[in-house]
Amino acid sequence: MTEISKKGALLEVKNNIQTSILQFFQDAIEKKLFDAVMLPMKVPSGDSFAWIMIKEQDILKSAQPLASIMPVNAAKALKRYTRKGKGTYKIAALMKPCEIRATIELTKLNQVHLDDVTLFSYDCVGALPMQDYIADPEAGDNKFKKLLSDKNWNSKDVKPVCKICDKFSLSASNLHFALNDQELILISNSEKGEKLLTDLDLKAETDLTKWQNYIEKQKKIKLKNREETFEIIKDMVEGFENLTETFANCIGCHNCNSSCPICYCRQCYFDSSVAKPNSDIIMMRAEDRGAVSLPLDRIMFHTGRMAHMSLSCVSCGLCSDACPVNIPVAKIFSYVASQTQKTFEYSAGASVGDALPMKEYRLDELGELGELVKNAEVQEGSHE
Ligand code: SF4
Ligand code: SF4
Repeated sequence: MTEISKKGALLEVKNNIQTSILQFFQDAIEKKLFDAVMLPMKVPSGDSFAWIMIKEQDILKSAQPLASIMPVNAAKALKRYTRKGKGTYKIAALMKPCEIRATIELTKLNQVHLDDVTLFSYDCVGALPMQDYIADPEAGDNKFKKLLSDKNWNSKDVKPVCKICDKFSLSASNLHFALNDQELILISNSEKGEKLLTDLDLKAETDLTKWQNYIEKQKKIKLKNREETFEIIKDMVEGFENLTETFANCIGCHNCNSSCPICYCRQCYFDSSVAKPNSDIIMMRAEDRGAVSLPLDRIMFHTGRMAHMSLSCVSCGLCSDACPVNIPVAKIFSYVASQTQKTFEYSAGASVGDALPMKEYRLDELGELGELVKNAEVQEGSHE
């Protein structure tokens, strides 16, 4: 990845930011720089959005690049498209920064292949909670339109996890749309991005200092919100008693698992027959403890998921949107992820170049355990 450019290319804003972004993609398709663009579009019923791979210019006009909700994380949609590796067509995909981070994580897990893909991100004001939006899509659209026109990065109307997200701007995308006052600035963030600007004859001549200062200011506010929220969440999840109480009304539906872009295993252990003991075994457990709650292993499911994927959790909030009993799953996972990622000096989705800690073992990373492994290796060597 090249160093972040200090300047960006100013794009013309005729009506609003959404139409200007669409115009940009139309121009890029016309110049044959992309064969298709993956963007969100309203579903026919008008109360949700779907990811659409768009080839036709006429259909492109109906897309809504900055969607007010996130029913499916774009990384999941891109995984379906690129899972089998390199194809024939060049595509562009525009996503929220948390979706870019999920894409980067899935790339490291060989679930997404970016050879044919140019990733675009934008300054994200957050997404509205799904249930609020479905209850009144028109009100949701108006609310979101206002958030965009006010450039309001600290609205009380967005998802709880968006209120504490300090990574809402430039991410590991190839290019980034910066929303600066009434301006739309395209920033190159990679060699692919530089080439595209050249191919489109766009000059990076607009200074980014004002935009950068504004984003930094917003980040500080979000970080403060995040610290305060994590203090509350810490008390909800640290210690077995607290964890059990927090997940007491979990109905074991596993929606949080199936909506998560990072939980990619085709066969989840918790849905397998191994995790579904027969009645005799359940009765043995009941005998040991006096009683068992059904469905079984709800706490184990959550702690298992934390152990499995919290290093890659990107705080997208889809798990909370999917929870029918309003458990703050996303804030909980964001908190746990902040702890595990800090331990491994890792930031999920920050860069394709950072190896996944689970795939790379460093002797110095686990203190005493590292020493034990080193000593065992020395002893083994002396026996050879
Ligand atoms: S655990 Fe929740 S917040 Fe984290 S990546 Fe999965 S869906 Fe998103
Ligand atoms: S979505 Fe909510 S109720 Fe369903 S398993 Fe996850 S935490 Fe439990």
